[in-house]
Amino acid sequence: MLIVISGPSGVGKGTVIKELLTQLPELQLAISYTTRSPRPGDRPGKDYYFVSPEEFAKIDFLESAEVHGFKYGTPNKEYQGDVLFEVDIQGANAIKAKRPEALTIFILPPSDEELAKRLVKRKTEKPAEIKIRLETARQELKRQWESDYQVVNDKIDHTVNKISEIIKLELEKRKGENK
Ligand code: 5GP
Repeated sequence: MLIVISGPSGVGKGTVIKELLTQLPELQLAISYTTRSPRPGDRPGKDYYFVSPEEFAKIDFLESAEVHGFKYGTPNKEYQGDVLFEVDIQGANAIKAKRPEALTIFILPPSDEELAKRLVKRKTEKPAEIKIRLETARQELKRQWESDYQVVNDKIDHTVNKISEIIKLELEKRKGENK
């Protein structure tokens, strides 16, 4: 099963996914390519493959998109087992269009104010970049209903439990359908 997690920048997708992988160790994380520079704490080859725009242009992608001025893409390869993708809403829709059986989950912030607070607190973007991310978030939130499920990230353990339940339920459903 392809499991696509999307949601605005700063909503906590990275932390949610890290915890999910601990709870459901059979899941694999697909590693995206990006042209943005690594941030402190980013692990090249684990969080992303960091490449130049020239290298990016040569790669075969299942989907790719421009987000906040940089390119991001999911490599087009044979994914085995249950794979998690962390992409923006454009990516989620592109994967769903090509692979309609994919499960799409959108993570929401408890409020706009909370999202702004989280972006400021993580100190990884300059004020101008935060402004762009908040504007993108507003646009993305309007499109949350295009995903199969919406989950509010209020408390990390609640969020992870909810998503883990959704994944288990959908895996069971698919097993039933394949009998
Ligand atoms: P960040 O730079 O904060 O790691 O990611 C910025 C945005 O790009 C996030 O919304 C993230 O989900 C999205 N993103 C990361 N990888 C991909 C990808 O492969 N494809 C698409 N479409 N978006 C991605």
